[in-house]
Amino acid sequence: MSARYSNRVGLNKVRCFVASLSLKEPILKLSQSPQMKGFVTTNRLGRVVARRFVAGETVEDAVKASREMNQQGLHVSLDHLGENTSNVDEANHATGEALEILDVIAREKLDANISVKLTSMGQDIDYDLCYQNILRVVRKAKAQDDTFVRLDMEASAYTQRTLDLFCNLWEEGHHNVGVVLQSYLYRTEKDVEAMIKLGARVRLCKGAYLEPAEVAYQEKAEVDRNYLRCMERLMSEGNYPGLATHDEKIIEHAINYATRNKITADKFEFQMLYGVRRDLQKRLVHQGYNVRAYIPYGSEWYPYLMRRMAERPANLFFIASQFWKG
Ligand SMILES: Cc1cc2nc3c(=O)[nH]c(=O)nc-3n(C[C@H](O)[C@H](O)[C@H](O)COP(=O)(O)OP(=O)(O)OC[C@H]3O[C@@H](n4cnc5c(N)ncnc54)[C@H](O)[C@@H]3O)c2cc1C
Repeated sequence: MSARYSNRVGLNKVRCFVASLSLKEPILKLSQSPQMKGFVTTNRLGRVVARRFVAGETVEDAVKASREMNQQGLHVSLDHLGENTSNVDEANHATGEALEILDVIAREKLDANISVKLTSMGQDIDYDLCYQNILRVVRKAKAQDDTFVRLDMEASAYTQRTLDLFCNLWEEGHHNVGVVLQSYLYRTEKDVEAMIKLGARVRLCKGAYLEPAEVAYQEKAEVDRNYLRCMERLMSEGNYPGLATHDEKIIEHAINYATRNKITADKFEFQMLYGVRRDLQKRLVHQGYNVRAYIPYGSEWYPYLMRRMAERPANLFFIASQFWKG
């Protein structure tokens, strides 16, 4: 038996073993562990794996990845990684990074908008601090070609606060900003209706955090069904929804729903994560759909990487294969 063959057999065994485990919850719990963070982020293998999902640590890396995506016909949303800042300096720093990337988008003429997490801008510290920070970003984005700012949605403890802050921005006339709703939350159908009424732009995703049964569906089939319900409402009545998913069945459903209801391809966009299902991203572009790649960059990649691992524990197989390569 050749060494190559036995390596392949070994990798297949790892793949089967990983696929048989229920790892979502433990991985998401580890995403909160400072010890694990220290271990993974200082480890060469950790960095190699992160590069599959993160464009790099610098603005230059983000620009390079964005250019590549734009050249392939994809729009981009840039996210400077960071969340749950615990002091004012860090929150101001995160705001500075968002302001900087807006300059870079304009200077480099990228087809890009930005995504931000309010907890990176002080949501855990003080409402006014966070509001003033995001206001600076939204105003600057508006002044620069009406660039769009997406408020990412974090764990359910932040849902109401994020929507409240969004509504305050909206009422003050800042309409180059939109929200994210997660189909795993029971409340989302109602939030979808509220956003439709407002005329606000929504990104619909399934949701990436560990949520209890009090607030969220626990079964994938229920999350998917709710996604379809919310998606149909947003496609029919919403304002240019972003359908953020790599789920081919849902994407097919969206395409069929659009055809049946004469919703043209310029009325919505598909959104996918950098490094996930690039084949599908390209295929949809070729079919004439708007597709936006979410490109994260920066040094604070650990929790983001762990959420990607939790979504598809078979990604651990990718780690194993890197380890095997030495
Ligand atoms: C553009 C974008 C923005 C997002 N923003 C948010 C946000 O603000 N808040 C939030 O809570 N969540 C966000 N998410 C994450 C989202 O909630 C899901 O956790 C994630 O998209 C996986 O769900 P899915 O819809 O792809 O379906 P799933 O049923 O999880 O996956 C369907 C298929 O997609 C592929 N796939 C999915 N995830 C991965 C992965 N990590 N690695 C490799 N393959 C994968 C697999 O082939 C899988 O079988 C975002 C997702 C996208 C695409």
